[in-house]
Amino acid sequence: MAFEISLTGKTAVVTGSNSGIGLGIAWELARAGANVVLNSFTDSEDDHALAQQIADETGTKARYIQADMSKGEQCRRLIEEAGVCDILVNNAGIQHVASIPEFPAEKWDAIIAINLSSAFHTSAAALPMMRKAGWGRVINIASAHGLTASPYKSAYIAAKHGIVGLTKTTALETAKEPITANAICPGYVLTPIVEKQIPDTMKEYDMSREEVIENVMLTRQPSKEFATVEQMGGTATFLCSSAAAQITGTTISVDGGWTAL
Ligand code: NAD
Repeated sequence: MAFEISLTGKTAVVTGSNSGIGLGIAWELARAGANVVLNSFTDSEDDHALAQQIADETGTKARYIQADMSKGEQCRRLIEEAGVCDILVNNAGIQHVASIPEFPAEKWDAIIAINLSSAFHTSAAALPMMRKAGWGRVINIASAHGLTASPYKSAYIAAKHGIVGLTKTTALETAKEPITANAICPGYVLTPIVEKQIPDTMKEYDMSREEVIENVMLTRQPSKEFATVEQMGGTATFLCSSAAAQITGTTISVDGGWTAL
């Protein structure tokens, strides 16, 4: 292979990584040799056991640090406690589905805080570490909804468009350094965040579960298949490889053709 994909000796901090895409990315980065820091707002035995399982199966160092990504100071504390952060994956995210007049203001604030502002705080804490190390990768998990819109997801779509903008600014501020910043834009991936949307969408459109999956979720995904967490992990690993050293300030869609429509 003419390019370097091994991440041995690097440390990755993945926010919101005790389930779904974040956990899938942590697994793939560890399989490529990176030490990983898992995170969520909980602090259960299961959370720590996940880190232990990654460490045992990949032979890397993995640990779990509790921090609530809705709170700016905890976002910064996560990076400080990690001590080193060569790869920052801003993945934590929540969703709420309602029309704008019915959208609870506290849900709007929480979605903007977790899905967007957290990435500002973690990046602010991690970029000096990357500069000191002389290498870094910022990978923001946006969405097809960072590039297009759908009804009833105002806060999520605003946050995801926002994180695409933050990604571009991060890339420009680090352009002359061996640091890149990119956003991955997944289409639908069948994870807990998607599972939780199914009942609300069933109510909103008066549809069965199967109809929601076929006619609402995958209707805009021309492949008619959910993307997988392993594919997100593989894309993140590629962005950390030397082949991606000149890829910065852009979005990579992993959406079965959604944004080609
Ligand atoms: P998920 O619900 O499985 O994972 C969300 C993660 O964020 C969990 O680990 C959860 O514990 C964590 N989290 C939530 N609130 C937090 C907080 N306050 N502090 C710290 N961690 C917190 O969902 P997912 O599908 O894996 O989503 C991960 C990311 O991918 C999100 O940013 C989501 O918007 C994005 N995304 C998902 C899809 C999809 O179809 N699943 C599509 C596009 C983008």
